[in-house]
Amino acid sequence: MKRIVVLAGGFGGARFLRGLRAVAPESKITVVANTGDDITLFGLRICPDLDTLMYTLGGVINEKTGWGRDDETFNSKAELAGFGVGPSWFGLGDRDLATHLIRTEMLNAGYSLTDVTSALVKRWELGLELLPMCDERVETHVRISDEDGDRFIHFQEWWIRLGAKVAAEQFVALNIEQSRPAKGVLEAIAGADLIILAPSNPVVSTGIILQVPGILTALKNADAPIVGVSPIINGAPVRGMADKCLTAIGVETNAHAVGAHYGARSAGGLLDGWLVDTTDLPMEINGIEVRALNLLMIDPVTTQAIAQEALNLGRALSNQRGGS
Ligand code: GDP
Ligand code: CA
Repeated sequence: MKRIVVLAGGFGGARFLRGLRAVAPESKITVVANTGDDITLFGLRICPDLDTLMYTLGGVINEKTGWGRDDETFNSKAELAGFGVGPSWFGLGDRDLATHLIRTEMLNAGYSLTDVTSALVKRWELGLELLPMCDERVETHVRISDEDGDRFIHFQEWWIRLGAKVAAEQFVALNIEQSRPAKGVLEAIAGADLIILAPSNPVVSTGIILQVPGILTALKNADAPIVGVSPIINGAPVRGMADKCLTAIGVETNAHAVGAHYGARSAGGLLDGWLVDTTDLPMEINGIEVRALNLLMIDPVTTQAIAQEALNLGRALSNQRGGS
């Protein structure tokens, strides 16, 4: 497994990658990250999933929250609030601000998000390649209806301000039809020995990446086996509100339904293998090799065991496919 490609959102993706990096030190790992969560606030371009991946893998994440920098302060945010300027619901730390300032300045100068990301990650030894899914501005919006009417709001507003409490009726990734996979994404997929769908939100993380024109086809045509790691354990997301997202797209919140939603590659879907938690056994999905172990990433040892099992399953599937 020399070359591994991982599709990832923020928290679940980053945690899993920490394990994978530890158990596959010889592999070249390319991460294709969701950028549908991106938002512009105060003129600053903020990429929550790229930042969570960068901070987690760089060892500078706030481990308690799973987002933002460690040893963070929020003086700028307090100053903005002092002026009565919002949004107050978005956590914008002082250290974190530096990332957004640099990113915005570089984007304004004409650099691509891919180039900006690669410039930012140079500060830390991530031990892997971090790519945005695309360079274009693509933002996930959520259709809701409440006392203010039937309307679309930015994903962050729904997720953070509303805590996903208002039912999502639809997710739309604005401008995604006009986007293209970022430089290096298709090449990495075509050249991969193993492709992994991290235990990320199937709708607003992985689901958005898969909508970038060209990515799904590239995955289906890839020589490498595709292994998914379930973010749903025992009928519930481990963290976050993936259940609310799954409901909006008509998929039940359980590991079987999510596996079936991705579908068997042999039947026009995506997955060759599906890693689920032992609490979700027995499970059978036609055309998909299902394996189970404890999928709770509670510490480095368990997380590495999960990553190792994804590698093992990938190797077994690759032998079946007659690969190397
Ligand atoms: P986000 O962009 O920060 O929301 O992060 P992701 O989309 O990468 O990951 C969110 C998903 O990670 C949620 O659906 C969680 O259920 C899942 N997740 C979080 N912790 C764990 C864990 O310990 N094990 C598994 N299997 N999934 C997890
Ligand atoms: Ca996210």
